Amino acid sequence: MSQTQPTSSTADLLLHNGIVITMDAQRRVLTDTSVAIRDGRIAAVGPAADLSAQFADARRIDCRRKVIMPGLVDLHGYLGGSVLKSAGEDLDGTARRNLLEETLSSYTDEEWWQVEAQLCAVERLKLGVTCMFSMMGGNGTRTDDVAFPQIAAREVSRAGMRMRIGLGPARPPWPRPYTYWADGKPTVRAVEFDQVIDNCERIFNDHARNPDPLIDYCVALSRIGNQNEHDPVWTPERQIWVGRQAEAAVHLMKAHDVGFWTHMYGNSIDYAFDEKLGLCGPRSIFSHCTGISERSIAIMRETGSHCAHHPRAARTYSYPGRCPLPEFIDAGVNVGLGADAPQNHDTDMFLDMKAAVRAQRMHFKDPRLIPPGKALEMATIDGYRALGLDHELGSVEAGKKADLITIDLAQPHMAPVDMPVYRVVYNATGRDVADVIVDGRVVMEKRQMVGMDENDLLDRTQAMYARVMERAGLAKHIPDNNRIWGASRS
Ligand SMILES: [Zn+2]
Repeated sequence: MSQTQPTSSTADLLLHNGIVITMDAQRRVLTDTSVAIRDGRIAAVGPAADLSAQFADARRIDCRRKVIMPGLVDLHGYLGGSVLKSAGEDLDGTARRNLLEETLSSYTDEEWWQVEAQLCAVERLKLGVTCMFSMMGGNGTRTDDVAFPQIAAREVSRAGMRMRIGLGPARPPWPRPYTYWADGKPTVRAVEFDQVIDNCERIFNDHARNPDPLIDYCVALSRIGNQNEHDPVWTPERQIWVGRQAEAAVHLMKAHDVGFWTHMYGNSIDYAFDEKLGLCGPRSIFSHCTGISERSIAIMRETGSHCAHHPRAARTYSYPGRCPLPEFIDAGVNVGLGADAPQNHDTDMFLDMKAAVRAQRMHFKDPRLIPPGKALEMATIDGYRALGLDHELGSVEAGKKADLITIDLAQPHMAPVDMPVYRVVYNATGRDVADVIVDGRVVMEKRQMVGMDENDLLDRTQAMYARVMERAGLAKHIPDNNRIWGASRS
């Protein structure tokens, strides 16, 4: 793609006169540059004076002292986590996971998922994340009824965020109990594994008939489920389901021509490969990849599987083993980033870029590891490559879809305006994102969401939180404040 495509003189929007971190093949950083947007795509990238004349009638956003760059992509976002932040902080890892899973599958209703999906999208958009992956099915997120994923997809799209939803079954054993609420009354139903796979088929088919430009799907499993010292919820009864789960996942992937996502750690990559489960490959994303072997890295390289790295995830301090990030990069394995939030921390991917840099430098005592440009690649173009979308997204180039953010440089912590890639990775946080454009539409301008009443969303969030807290009896899991002060442990 060329730098400018001076064809027509009409554009819907001109991001005028900023510093463009293009993330194009040459990784060019262009000063005094504008970006013209037409019909959801980037129409031209070029010198501000030229584009100003060429697109004189376009609506403008002044980008002086701003960076213009691709929106960030979070490869491990979490539908279901936004309205329940920090609930269960009194519990240890597995107990907390079980509490959240139980809460989501037993105490949530359609209205709850509506608010949850909106909050999930809006909190990320405001931090510069324009595309997110979320599993729907595992860890209490619901595929027991097609309504829940469909509501989530509709609301995320309405908020203006791009999302890939990974559909699949919850963890075995099956059947599993799920609760349905109507008029404040619960009905419990035992749901069969096949029912959930049928639901996934239905959603794939509905999407094929009625595609949403911001939403697409893949298949996801919470985990492989083999015996694995890094798997806190492994049991022999669950392991019996490994083959059947994998078979269903492969069937869905082939029937609907989609990719795959799962958590991988410990020996699970080697196991999936050796057992020929059919889950490794160029359309597969493996999250975490902590505590894996050198052989796992070779398997990922040979199969073309992608890693999603989550340097702030609870797993990093709950289990031994590092994600071998420099080793992956040196081996040519593609790595994207994800926040795996918001349970123990927030969804700000700028902090994940910093953490990815720091964790490896601390481990190897090497200040040159993971330079800022590499961190920015992981949060943008490499993340889209993992999703198979890098031909359409992840860089500022004429012809690509216009998913862009601007970052305000006119602030003390961003001064002096120089070395913009360093400023963005080392000094910026998501709160420095000024404007967000997704699919050519301005969804946030000067930090205000466009076409969305944020106060109303916050009020509805509070009401949903109160409702589920009461239904689930969660009050006892809101940590006693006295335990967080004055001691080395809570
Ligand atoms: Zn995870």
